[in-house]
Amino acid sequence: MSSYDAIVCGGSFGGLAAASQMQGRVLLIDRLPIGDGETSASALPLACLENMDLLDCVEQVHEEIVVHTKRHSQRMGFFPFCTFDYRRFCEDLFQRTGAEFLRARVTGAGDGRVQTTEGDFEAPVIVDAVGWRTAAEKGRASRRARAPRRSFGVESRQPFSGDGLHFYVGRGNGNRRFYWIFPAGDHVRAGLATYTGESALSEDLARFLGRYKIGEPGHTHGGFFTSRLVDPVRRRMFCVGDAAGQCLPVSGEGIRPALVFGQVAGRLADRVRMGEMELPAALAYYRGAVRSHARGYRILDRLQTVLNVLPDQLFEGFARLVGSERGLPIASRKYWNVAPPDLLSAGPEPDLLPPVPGGEALDGWTASGSRDASAWASPETSST
Ligand SMILES: Cc1cc2nc3c(=O)[nH]c(=O)nc-3n(C[C@H](O)[C@H](O)[C@H](O)COP(=O)(O)OP(=O)(O)OC[C@H]3O[C@@H](n4cnc5c(N)ncnc54)[C@H](O)[C@@H]3O)c2cc1C
Repeated sequence: MSSYDAIVCGGSFGGLAAASQMQGRVLLIDRLPIGDGETSASALPLACLENMDLLDCVEQVHEEIVVHTKRHSQRMGFFPFCTFDYRRFCEDLFQRTGAEFLRARVTGAGDGRVQTTEGDFEAPVIVDAVGWRTAAEKGRASRRARAPRRSFGVESRQPFSGDGLHFYVGRGNGNRRFYWIFPAGDHVRAGLATYTGESALSEDLARFLGRYKIGEPGHTHGGFFTSRLVDPVRRRMFCVGDAAGQCLPVSGEGIRPALVFGQVAGRLADRVRMGEMELPAALAYYRGAVRSHARGYRILDRLQTVLNVLPDQLFEGFARLVGSERGLPIASRKYWNVAPPDLLSAGPEPDLLPPVPGGEALDGWTASGSRDASAWASPETSST
């Protein structure tokens, strides 16, 4: 069995972010070539790409988010967002990592071992970043490990142009549906998502594109994304991104948290490689770091539940409040802090770690200082 200093399962946002902070012999495994398999609309706060020095992949900068309800369009200048080229992002970030790439399907991972369709591998440190399915063994163990709350989205690209990230609030089967049009230079990404995981959305997407005379769906991509934190430490692995339910509820913004928590996990993993930290202490610190953001997630999670069923008129009132002169600065600050882009760096930055309550200084942080896992959402228990 081949051995490495660390193995990262999943070569998208969370996995590449973690690998970008790790040195030594790192194996990065993905079932697809790096940059293939885009599932998202690839929009995120511009500050993320600024801090990671990845501005070359930006397609368009957006100063405003516009929320369209039946009778009103609310403009919100949170902080600048951008749409970016997924392939370019992944390839550029991968080039910086120095990791060895293996194209294989991970069939199980944990406790220092990774099983794949191309053989088994071992490493003291493993990062699970394979998305909502997680790298846990198949069957019941895998289902138990998954975040309980999953949204579903689908989108297509259309030759159109515009400015701003536009959301259209609608309804289907008694639940909220969010449609979007995100301009990205020479095209727009247009799609829709449900909070309930309902996935038969193709006809609705076609209707939406027809209504705004944007085009035919053609090729679509998408899938599930998680939106409730689960314990980010499983079987002695750092779990990042959708594998730990880190996608933000309400907005479905999952790239930023996958990058932020991915880099935090990568920095701690590298401390283990350097012998500066024991693995249990590093895992405990990571758990504490994610947990220190759990309150923001909880608030968004409750809000998502309410927004899913809120009558249209009240939704409009909510949008006006968030976009108001008084509401916007507060909402912006809080929303930023749930997964702050300030924690992102261009290269390895071992000391850039969030303070953890009860273990503010990294030195002296021990495994025994960790909180237990019982406070996390129990996986696979509820849907909305
Ligand atoms: C339609 C849609 C639009 C979205 N738009 C946005 C958006 O604009 N902005 C935003 O912030 N978020 C968006 N999201 C959410 C966002 O895509 C996810 O939260 C984010 O991709 C999570 O990143 P990740 O690295 O954790 O997982 P993923 O991006 O899912 O990456 C997982 C990686 O692991 C690989 N993999 C999976 N299983 C295995 C296996 N068994 N073996 C080996 N490799 C494996 C995959 O090939 C992939 O490369 C959207 C989601 C959808 C569905």
